[in-house]
Amino acid sequence: MASIAASAVPDRNCPLCPRLAEFRKAMRKREPDWFNSPVDSFGDATAQLLIVGLAPGMQGANRTGRPFTGDYAGDLLYATLLEYGFAKGVYQARPDDGLRLVDCRISNAVRCVPPQNKPLPAEINTCRQFLVATMAAMPRVRAVVALGRIAHDSTLKALGLRNAAAPFAHGAVHEAGVIRLYDSYHCSRYNTNTGRLTVAMFDAVIAAIRARLG
Ligand code: SF4
Repeated sequence: MASIAASAVPDRNCPLCPRLAEFRKAMRKREPDWFNSPVDSFGDATAQLLIVGLAPGMQGANRTGRPFTGDYAGDLLYATLLEYGFAKGVYQARPDDGLRLVDCRISNAVRCVPPQNKPLPAEINTCRQFLVATMAAMPRVRAVVALGRIAHDSTLKALGLRNAAAPFAHGAVHEAGVIRLYDSYHCSRYNTNTGRLTVAMFDAVIAAIRARLG
């Protein structure tokens, strides 16, 4: 893996991406009741499965403070994790709904909400140190799901792999030592509305991981 940051958890006022720090400041003024901070990973560090998303959604994790909680992407993600035993409880789109992840952790390639959901390459590169540290702190991780190309590319770099050797494709599986990287289109509303990602396609990715991890 690439070099390891001191912490897997950025400061709530992390200044490393000036554009995102400014945006965060503006959002805190506009929506003082929202979380509006770097979103930490959800789930136990002893998990074998790590899911890597793109970045907090404006109305999702950026509002609620828990990855994929409060927007459409979370509806599909958590329903599928519950179906395959990677979560327990009832997902109610709020961080105090009591939902627990089981042998699963969820993080993001970029921890702060980006304008228009589009982080810049420099921001992705800068925030990777927290992804590297997150993975380094997971001694049992055996499966990583990259949700979309950006998560895929950043995870590859975090693992110290070259993109040419492991190009992104939905359903593709890449070996990285003891870790198997599974690619999926992001479970966003846009992707499901346009038919790029169907529920069955997403289901198949998580089913394959369940079959591998037992
Ligand atoms: S995206 Fe990551 S590196 Fe950039 S400001 Fe937020 S927490 Fe810091």
